[in-house]
Amino acid sequence: MPSKKNRVEIPRPLQAQVLFASDRTCCICRVKGKPVQIHHIDDNPANNVFKNLAVLCLECHNETQIQGGFHRKLDAEQVTLYRHDWLIQVSKTRAANSERLPDINDENHAVELELATSLAEIYREREEYELLALHYTHIGNDELRDKYIELAIQQGMDDSSIIFFRSEQDRLDLIPEEVKNRHIKNLQDQGYWFSLGRLYRQLEEYQLAVQATCRGVVEDIENGDIFSAAFHLKEMVSEGILDYLFIDAMAEAEEQNDLWWQYRCLEELEWDTEAKAFLLEHRKEIEALDDPDFNEALAIALDDKQQYIELRKEEARSISARPNTEVDVLGDPRQ
Ligand SMILES: [Zn+2]
Repeated sequence: MPSKKNRVEIPRPLQAQVLFASDRTCCICRVKGKPVQIHHIDDNPANNVFKNLAVLCLECHNETQIQGGFHRKLDAEQVTLYRHDWLIQVSKTRAANSERLPDINDENHAVELELATSLAEIYREREEYELLALHYTHIGNDELRDKYIELAIQQGMDDSSIIFFRSEQDRLDLIPEEVKNRHIKNLQDQGYWFSLGRLYRQLEEYQLAVQATCRGVVEDIENGDIFSAAFHLKEMVSEGILDYLFIDAMAEAEEQNDLWWQYRCLEELEWDTEAKAFLLEHRKEIEALDDPDFNEALAIALDDKQQYIELRKEEARSISARPNTEVDVLGDPRQ
């Protein structure tokens, strides 16, 4: 342990802010739920300023204390880098998960809000524009968000952050092509498929996003990391990405003038009103196709119960459980 010289206890509000900013999680290993402590990056226990304080678990803290050999395993510069990266990750996750301003009637939320306000003051003092941009993204103040994004970009911002902020602003058009391509290549080269999947989701390239994410899932399963496979698949699906694929498939079917698959996409999207309108709008063409499934859907859309019953009876007559029937057991050639 470092000497006890000039140890000044970290003021409680500052402790709370440091823990909040780090999500009470070690900024090195980032394993949630481990006991953590606040570490003085410069090893000066009297230097209680926000920038000098990093949340570390006991194991990672020990790594900073190893004096043997030529140098420490984890030096101050590395801790600073890890910390900076982690604070940004935490804020990004909060920004992505938050439903904008919390209900201020809720006591816990009020505490969190007050804490967040103090954090902003600290960031401003330290000219941490990127963290300020994240902060205002988190609380839903678009004007200040935009102001600090510009300042942070002038200050120097890495590719992934530029893409993140521009997508938060809904201004993908402001991302320079070279930034986009460099970041994509970087993630591909390192085989960071889930990050690449997220990136493509931000860039609204949904087919590429699914490709990348599924590639990661396949690798995880091959390596026996089932949790990670399930986690990332769930994350992707819960973002509603499958809808985008159905929308793409619908556009393709429309291009090919294929009414059936356009209808099936609407059905899978559960756009019931649109699906019904589609059937009615294309009634003549659908009737001309004389497809049993399509006719049934149309009868329902027309609320034609008699026709629907007739179609179901016809369907029953065409089905036989006896072997060697004329019915094509391979079913619908469309599939
Ligand atoms: Zn740790």
